[in-house]
Amino acid sequence: MDRLRNQFCSWFIALVAVALFAVPVTSQLLRTAHEESGFEEYTSYAELMTFLQEVQASSEDMLLSSFGRSMEGKLQPYAIFSRPLITQPWEAMVSGKPIVLIYANVHGGEKTLRESSLLLVRELATPGTEANGYLKDLVVLVAPSVNLDGFERSTRGNARGVDLNRDYMKLETPEMRNLVQNLLHTWHPHISVDGHNGGSYPYNITYQANSHATPDPAITDLCDFEIFPYIEKKNEAAGFRSFWYSGGSRQDSTVWTGGGFDPRISRNYAAFINNVGILFESPRQDRQTGALAGLVSFKAVLQYAIENKDRLFEVVNGARFGTIEMGQRAQGMIAVQVEYGLEEWTVNYDFASGPRDNPTLVPITGRLLKKPIVLKERRRPYAYILEPKAVNAIEMLKAQDVLIEVLQEDTEIEIEAYQLEGIEHNAEYDHPAAVTVLLADETITQRRSFKKGTFVIRTGQIMGRVAAHLLEPETNDSVVRWNAMDAVLPRLPREGGGPSIMPIFKLMQPTVLPTKVLQY
Ligand SMILES: [Zn+2]
Repeated sequence: MDRLRNQFCSWFIALVAVALFAVPVTSQLLRTAHEESGFEEYTSYAELMTFLQEVQASSEDMLLSSFGRSMEGKLQPYAIFSRPLITQPWEAMVSGKPIVLIYANVHGGEKTLRESSLLLVRELATPGTEANGYLKDLVVLVAPSVNLDGFERSTRGNARGVDLNRDYMKLETPEMRNLVQNLLHTWHPHISVDGHNGGSYPYNITYQANSHATPDPAITDLCDFEIFPYIEKKNEAAGFRSFWYSGGSRQDSTVWTGGGFDPRISRNYAAFINNVGILFESPRQDRQTGALAGLVSFKAVLQYAIENKDRLFEVVNGARFGTIEMGQRAQGMIAVQVEYGLEEWTVNYDFASGPRDNPTLVPITGRLLKKPIVLKERRRPYAYILEPKAVNAIEMLKAQDVLIEVLQEDTEIEIEAYQLEGIEHNAEYDHPAAVTVLLADETITQRRSFKKGTFVIRTGQIMGRVAAHLLEPETNDSVVRWNAMDAVLPRLPREGGGPSIMPIFKLMQPTVLPTKVLQY
């Protein structure tokens, strides 16, 4: 009996070997550890790297690469997909195709859309599938797991406990510097999608776009009125439900609240750098449904980009050229303080009331609380001027790939200056003494002599919206707020009286200056 079984086994093994030799393993046959476990266990870091490697080894349309390392040294993987396969950002740009970046797991404990992105990787890589068919019209980048150290710990933050989805402007963590500099600033995707866990029952996927007043509003409108309804239709067809992030207000059931509006958050930041930034949040549900609804939603974004390429390019290029033009003409205002108001249009949703484990659904017609209302604004300058000693602020600008110039000789310039009236310190995220400055509403206009070596930052550049937000002292994500000006702020009250001048100066008129570009 044993002998017979052995004979059968070796015969069977030989047959399998022949089959494997004749037909190479296709990516369609590769399954994630999540699938293997019946969608119970999440795919580990080691399993994820093996899966990506094996999928790449079976595909002509995929290049596996890395955009950096986590704080503890783990490789942050990403895959490039296109046909023909491009391998460099400039190749993607000259292809004339939309570039879409999909990433997930920025919050380490939020794992559902990380799994969805692996399913997407496999489908993109597999000839004959629907998603593989997209690749003649699209360049897709997928980074399944951004916060690898936080994933292992199942924590929101990284190994140091920093919330990476509040680090887009200060860029103090290696994980975010890598994502922002090596993917967002390098590939310039038209759309970037960031996958989280959150949002509300009974929806299978929830979404939100930019909600700050500074980016081009056409980006948010494109999402709210074109992309999100498109995603909703695709989910409906697959038997899933989708809605805006995040949930019904407990005070007023006709109000559905959104997430925060500051550029330190992914979807807002993306719009500040003139991309269409989309947040996906997967609400609490069974894991298989969550992973599959995520896959449908990621694919819907890709399909939208293909079917509406001209419209997408019109909005993104409008935002990009618009940023340069308004800066070079020193036109318009910069929103420095914002709050939420209700959108004017209504939406229909199911409001969950009662206990969390057994809620009752009440159909409601309500409004979204996510419209940015500008409380305070300041005039956009042609350029900001920083003295040579403001080195920490310059480091923040460099991290954002802002173009910086340096005066080559002592120069007298007519500038506008803020009067500093107060300085407050408050704990915010990983900064125990984040700074808020109180400025007089009236500015002072004066001619001032600036030394050779002074920094000049024009707002008429593609990073102009980021530069202006960082350099306006009253915004929530300024160089002042994140302690990069601590060493150069004047002491209050000023000895001997007289106004204390904020050492970030504004040049209001287009002006020719003896500068050279700072090389870094
Ligand atoms: Zn999250």
